[in-house]
Amino acid sequence: MLGPVEGALASGERGMGRMIEPDEIVRAIDATRREGILSGRRVVVSAGPTFESLDPVRFLGNRSSGRMGFALASEAAQLGARVTLVAGPVNLEGPSGVDRIDVTDALSMEAAVYEAAAGADLVIMAAAVSDFRPAVREEQKIKKGGGPAAIELVENPDILCGLADKAPSAVRVGFAAETEDLEKNATAKLLAKDVDYLVANDVSRADIGFDSEANEVTVFGRDGSVVHLSRRPKIEIAAELLKLFARDERLSARANL
Ligand code: C5P
Repeated sequence: MLGPVEGALASGERGMGRMIEPDEIVRAIDATRREGILSGRRVVVSAGPTFESLDPVRFLGNRSSGRMGFALASEAAQLGARVTLVAGPVNLEGPSGVDRIDVTDALSMEAAVYEAAAGADLVIMAAAVSDFRPAVREEQKIKKGGGPAAIELVENPDILCGLADKAPSAVRVGFAAETEDLEKNATAKLLAKDVDYLVANDVSRADIGFDSEANEVTVFGRDGSVVHLSRRPKIEIAAELLKLFARDERLSARANL
């Protein structure tokens, strides 16, 4: 059987060269989204790094490209969800069909995620949030001679930990970048952050994870389930992860809106 998009294209072919109108394609794509396994669901994804300002031109940050979170947001939209993407500072366009909110630091990401998470069905924290920020943000650029000998840091809030309060009925997903003892650290984080799924990857490997096109992950579930996804492009990892989450009984049991 033809899906709505193939149907629109096929009917265009039958019309012997009839141009398919753009609004016809948009309608067909909309119909596909409505049929997706996440149709009617509200999904929030965070992505990218956070930059913590030291002064007007300097910051503390990390090498997260945002690609994994963008792939998840894009795929969730393809599967019919209404998606809010809270993006840290990244060099990425789009994704289309997604409500994107750009933020800079951990505090602004926290506010945006919590606002979007109210009433969400699935919240995925794929962002690499800075654990610390400078205690003081200097108003003027720090000068070479008179600069501080040391920078005092204060801890940022853990956005994921706070989600249990802000979105108690949502399926909550965290990511963990580990360099050793993947299983032990990931399962400890699953409990500590009170999430339903913890997606762990080994960032000591140069061919996956941070700033890479591909990923290889192990997903630890609250119920003790363990699913390994071998190395593949992030967009394919995203599709597999969303299929897995969509099967979660809390998500699949909710009526289509
Ligand atoms: O503790 P760790 O940084 O390894 O945990 C990673 C997970 O926690 C990711 O899902 C990340 O988005 C989230 N996190 C957070 N707020 C922080 C630090 C991490 O939500 N301040």
